[in-house]
Amino acid sequence: MTAASINPILVIGAGPIGLAAALRLASQGHSIRILDARGADAARHDARVLALSHGSRQLLETLGAWPAAAATPIETIHISQRGALGRTAMRHAEYGLPALGYVLPADALVAALSARIEAQDMRIEYDTRVESLAAELDHITLNLRNAAGETYSMRGSLAVSCEGHVDAQRDGMTDKTAAVVSHDYDQHALLLRVTPVRPHGNVARERFTPDGPIALLPLGRDYAVVWTVGPAQLAELKTLSDAALLGRLHAAFSGNMQFADARDRNSYPLVMNLRRTTVGARSVWLGNAAQTLHPVAGQGFNLGLRDVWELAEALRGGVDPGAPEVLARHARSRRADRWGTAGFTDGLVRLFSNDIPLLRHARGAGLLALDILPPLRHFVAKRMMFGARAWP
Ligand SMILES: Cc1cc2nc3c(=O)[nH]c(=O)nc-3n(C[C@H](O)[C@H](O)[C@H](O)COP(=O)(O)OP(=O)(O)OC[C@H]3O[C@@H](n4cnc5c(N)ncnc54)[C@H](O)[C@@H]3O)c2cc1C
Repeated sequence: MTAASINPILVIGAGPIGLAAALRLASQGHSIRILDARGADAARHDARVLALSHGSRQLLETLGAWPAAAATPIETIHISQRGALGRTAMRHAEYGLPALGYVLPADALVAALSARIEAQDMRIEYDTRVESLAAELDHITLNLRNAAGETYSMRGSLAVSCEGHVDAQRDGMTDKTAAVVSHDYDQHALLLRVTPVRPHGNVARERFTPDGPIALLPLGRDYAVVWTVGPAQLAELKTLSDAALLGRLHAAFSGNMQFADARDRNSYPLVMNLRRTTVGARSVWLGNAAQTLHPVAGQGFNLGLRDVWELAEALRGGVDPGAPEVLARHARSRRADRWGTAGFTDGLVRLFSNDIPLLRHARGAGLLALDILPPLRHFVAKRMMFGARAWP
């Protein structure tokens, strides 16, 4: 028996992608250890609200971790822009699916995945920070620090990095621009919950405004709002009274939507960090550790889950999970989906986050074209529902 075949696969990060990777790889018979820098309570709390594609639901069901009770189906997606004509709507019935996607709190997803981990007699090692990695020919060593500040090391056959961001310092990148395509949008996502005065009817709304897009995602009887704003506007919106904030939201939808009761304000800075390659010596990066995207198209977790699935495919039947040819196969299989989804997302932000009059009309024409040309609309809808599998 070789060292590579007896050492476990080490999953770094117990966010939704790390947990999904641990479950998927364990189901193939791999021995797994899961490490997270934070304590259990902090690691299980995530204020984000996720729109998941129909494809992601199917993959989570395969893992036995679909949190059905927490999920609200999206039956229609309505896209419009402020201050110009052109709008389009995509309806689930056109695709013969029960829903175009689902909205759920990220912590409900983490809870469902954690429960499944426990049910499989696996354990998450919390308060365990990975400080550095050192790859050898037949194993990788992680250097760790626990909550008490003690340092120690652990051996594995492969490090599956799911730490939720690109950690250039830990990974010893001397030239970050050579390894990662980065863009700071100089924007933030303001998250909040609002209750619509009239029932939302399971309609998700994406509204493009000169400051940036606003998404209204149906969640229970509420809308989860993902409101993209610049730094000055964020500072102002954070200090507004609830009534004044709701007034701004009402105006952004040209007075067509009415809301009551705003709560749970949170914010996240928005950047794109796309690793040029997601594999290294006995290492692979998945989810936000491989690519952090703008949330405009709701693709980040969906894309990360496809990373997980393809890694499991690449490892299938192999003796050494960290072998260079296995990791190269995985990197090849992810290239089109990662770059396609990142380009689609980044293009949407750049196209819609400005107020040049000519562009505004071109966008209106684009939305009208989507409305009039079913094949184009189906293409966009399928990309939202299934990712790169939408490509012909
Ligand atoms: C505002 C907003 C809205 C979004 N909306 C959507 C959406 O609608 N649909 C969608 O698909 N995606 C969406 N996303 C993206 C989605 O939230 C992420 O893709 C997903 O949550 C990433 O999960 P992850 O497991 O990769 O990372 P994380 O959830 O960040 O987990 C990383 C874990 O790694 C641990 N960790 C970090 N460093 C170390 C270390 N050195 N050692 C050990 N552990 C470590 C952390 O403690 C953490 O628990 C959105 C993102 C934002 C910001």
